[in-house]
Amino acid sequence: TREELTRSERLAAIGQLTATVSHELRNPLGTLTTSVAVLQRAGTLAGERERGELDRIQRNVRRCVRIIEDLLEFSRRPDVSMVPLALDAWITEQASDLRALSSVELALDLDCDRIIEADGERLRQVLVNLVQNAMQAVLERPAGSPPGRVAIVTAAEGERVRITVTDNGVGMDDEVRRRLFEPLFSTKPFGLGLGLALVKRITERHGGSVSISSEPGRGTRVDITLPAAGEHADAA
Ligand code: ADP
Ligand code: MG
Repeated sequence: TREELTRSERLAAIGQLTATVSHELRNPLGTLTTSVAVLQRAGTLAGERERGELDRIQRNVRRCVRIIEDLLEFSRRPDVSMVPLALDAWITEQASDLRALSSVELALDLDCDRIIEADGERLRQVLVNLVQNAMQAVLERPAGSPPGRVAIVTAAEGERVRITVTDNGVGMDDEVRRRLFEPLFSTKPFGLGLGLALVKRITERHGGSVSISSEPGRGTRVDITLPAAGEHADAA
């Protein structure tokens, strides 16, 4: 169909341009991250203010790295390297990075005693993009709204695991719901529109699926199901 063609043309264009630019940006950003970490550890910056500025630099460098990783996902070969992950423990490990995305409250409600086979780097990208979208939706609400809340919930369902990300943000209308997996579709002034396309792509490569339900003014719920590889007998 004509829509299909546009989609693959778009992906090809993104791939060519970003492969070059992203690789070029990766090295200097890596250097920056290391330099800031050295300064933070040295602790020679006297004032509260200066240390705050360093943290701010670090946060923003990380943000740039995340954008580049998302772009690279569309230009690299689609091979994944799977390792066994104890789902709940792994999500708990990601929590501090996820909370650093914004000041919106992030709750974890983890109740899945399963191991999955996953590419940890890719799955982290999925989680980061979903939580980032959820937090942004919360921050888009008008002033005076009730407390914003994002939650990650896990559950075991037979041979599969379910990861759910919910928010009480602005939600989506029909038009947005129809188009959200389209690469480069975004309603945000500076949105790349790659997040959910990437979420779908990575999830499907793991043998999983994504479903999204949303209501304008009430919030959004994203469900990801993945095959389980086994029971996680020990909590360690
Ligand atoms: P981006 O975040 O760069 O705009 P995404 O692919 O991550 O791109 O999302 C596409 C669009 O889907 C967003 O611009 C937004 O309109 C909508 N969207 C995604 N997640 C949510 C959410 N949790 N709540 C409300 N709208 C969302
Ligand atoms: Mg996004």
